[in-house]
Amino acid sequence: MSMKTLAASLKEYFGFNTFRPHQEDIVKSIMLGEDVVAILPTGSGKSLCYQLPAVINDGTAIVISPLISLMQDQVLQLTKMGIAAECINSMNKAGESAMIMHEFDAFKLIYIAPERLSTPGFVDELKRKKISLFVIDEAHCISQWGHSFRPEYRQLTRLKDEFPDVPIASFTATATNDVEKDISSQLKLRAPIHIKGSFDRDNLLLKIHEKTDYKTQLNECLSRHKGESGIIYCSTRKKVDTVYEMLEKRGWNVDKYHAGLSDVSRQKALENFIHEETDVIVATVAFGMGINKPNVRFVFHTDMPQNIENYYQEIGRAGRDGLPAECVMLFSLRDIIMQKKFLDDIPNPSIRIHQKRKSDQLLAMANSIECRRKDLLSYFGEVYEKRCENCDNCLDDVEQMDGTIIAQKILSCVYRLHQSFGMTYVMDVLKGSQNKAVLQRRHDQLSTYALLKDCSKHEIRHYMLSLINQGYLFVTDGEYPILNLTEKSKEILYEKKEVFFRNQIVKGKNEGSVKKGRSVIHIDESDQPLYMKLKELRKNIADKQNVPPYFIFNDKTLMEIAHVKPSNDDALLLINGVGEQKLRKYGELFLLIVRQFG
Ligand code: ADP
Ligand code: ZN
Repeated sequence: MSMKTLAASLKEYFGFNTFRPHQEDIVKSIMLGEDVVAILPTGSGKSLCYQLPAVINDGTAIVISPLISLMQDQVLQLTKMGIAAECINSMNKAGESAMIMHEFDAFKLIYIAPERLSTPGFVDELKRKKISLFVIDEAHCISQWGHSFRPEYRQLTRLKDEFPDVPIASFTATATNDVEKDISSQLKLRAPIHIKGSFDRDNLLLKIHEKTDYKTQLNECLSRHKGESGIIYCSTRKKVDTVYEMLEKRGWNVDKYHAGLSDVSRQKALENFIHEETDVIVATVAFGMGINKPNVRFVFHTDMPQNIENYYQEIGRAGRDGLPAECVMLFSLRDIIMQKKFLDDIPNPSIRIHQKRKSDQLLAMANSIECRRKDLLSYFGEVYEKRCENCDNCLDDVEQMDGTIIAQKILSCVYRLHQSFGMTYVMDVLKGSQNKAVLQRRHDQLSTYALLKDCSKHEIRHYMLSLINQGYLFVTDGEYPILNLTEKSKEILYEKKEVFFRNQIVKGKNEGSVKKGRSVIHIDESDQPLYMKLKELRKNIADKQNVPPYFIFNDKTLMEIAHVKPSNDDALLLINGVGEQKLRKYGELFLLIVRQFG
């Protein structure tokens, strides 16, 4: 298959003008019959990587997927594009699965749940069919190292033995090396092609702010996204209720979602969000699995997530369409204390300690003055050399303060205390506390006693966290974590190395990242009225067919139409996102609106 025909098929079936990074390589490997392990972040377009070969190749692709809602969503989308697809799962009506199997050859893709493979006779039946490809979606579910191991996925180890001639393509957004290796060995892949994309999502404007007054901070964010889709995450159900009520009163078009609500109201909230009846959803982390909505324009964390992985996953729900989106996370020391309390309930001590350490890493990142992207990607083992110019630390004039003297005082105190005490105790000594423990141990006699008496505890804690973050202090594991010095501490104690801290007190309101960052979509003012009309039409068509608006066209496609103002089918077909099937179905309606504006 030559490049040209691949590109032509991409346009014909999916309406896209170009491949996204790595898509073409993956498609080609699959078409050559190679096994593939593809690790790409959410929103990078993994589905297309197997759907395109499935459409072009002879036979039927079997897609194994863990979530019924996702399967149905995909099948419906494919059907709308004129691609024959079906799913076999526990929701099928009696006889439906048998019928699908009977008509097997008519489908280019069939989605199945992993447990189906253990249905007696199913594998034998498959062996009599022409299968082009096995696709393992959410492949990390096969690994116990992953965050969502599913025992049913272990069935998949049989596939290679039973179908030695059928290539297997596996996809995941989980980046760790353990999981990657495990996928390939569990599936018994043969010399698989590994393709790993960057985990950078450069369209996301990243902001991490200290919580001063979350209601005001939230309002500022909302006012930048009037009429757009967004998710507001809160750490508890109670907070979800509070925030929801507040926004509702203020006239925002909101809904809420958490595990305390009935199945019916949760389902309704989800559907209204996807169908764009509601703009904003206030939710706990229970909300998000399986949300394919591409045009979420902001994710706002009113509380700090549990760790960097969760943070990455949650912000990943913004901007899947590649257009600018804004991610704001608020954090406070209170969040940390709350979180630690939750984590205290974990019975297994080694998991508990591990989780606590992970929560500290996110806090360290929050305190950092580095480019947010650099910090985030380095957590996933990626080196990011430049400054991104799309995060608050790159765009705002983050106040740095010379912390050299303070650092010397803190480290000397840790040293004087023989590296035997935890953060709170060291803080007490530095603050000059009169508490019993300090006096009994006669630590009020130490030369470092009360060295930071003019700082608030809050500030001292912030400085310590910055020192931990920069590697000048180390917190031991165990039930009573102890502050230790590190190799690097010497640089401060003996070599008078300069240290800088992020200034806690932000002077005035910092609007830098709002003005300079790519948080808001820019559409020419003159195109705006047409764009609104096109959106309206899209909503009408979607409602009639009872599908989400993004099934018809995505926002980017509508923006392009509004800008280019195509006057006929050929011109419309040139727009990214318009394929032949959709042209036939909706072309005339959209052209009519464009003409009315012409
Ligand atoms: P993932 O599964 O990796 O999270 P999806 O497969 O859901 O991502 O794709 C995310 C979005 O990107 C979808 O809206 C999809 O239509 C769009 N998309 C995929 N490939 C392309 C492409 N080549 N050009 C433009 N948009 C694309
Ligand atoms: Zn940056």
